Amino acid sequence: MESDEQLDRIPETLVAADLSGMRCENDRCLALAGVVGEGASCTIYELRPMVCRECQPGDPECDLARRTHGMDPLTPAEIAGAPG
Ligand code: SF4
Repeated sequence: MESDEQLDRIPETLVAADLSGMRCENDRCLALAGVVGEGASCTIYELRPMVCRECQPGDPECDLARRTHGMDPLTPAEIAGAPG
C-alpha cells in the first residue's frame, strides 16, 4: 500500500475528483499517452499508484483491459518480451 505522500506526488489533474483513483475519460486513464494497440505509455510511470504496479503483462487484469479495447490477450512470447 502506498503512502499518502506517494499518492500526493501524482499530479492533481490526473486524479479522479472523488480521489477514488486515476481520472479517466471514455475508459482511458488521462495519464496514458499514445494510441492503444499501437504504442502507448504511462506519463507518470515512476509515480503510478500501486494498483498499476501490481498489474503485470498477461495477468487477468491485463487481459480484461485488452479485451475492453478490442485486443486479444498477450501471447506467451509477448509476455516474455513485455516490460514488467
Ligand atoms: S499505469 Fe496506471 S496511471 Fe499509468 S496510464 Fe496506466 S492506468 Fe494510468
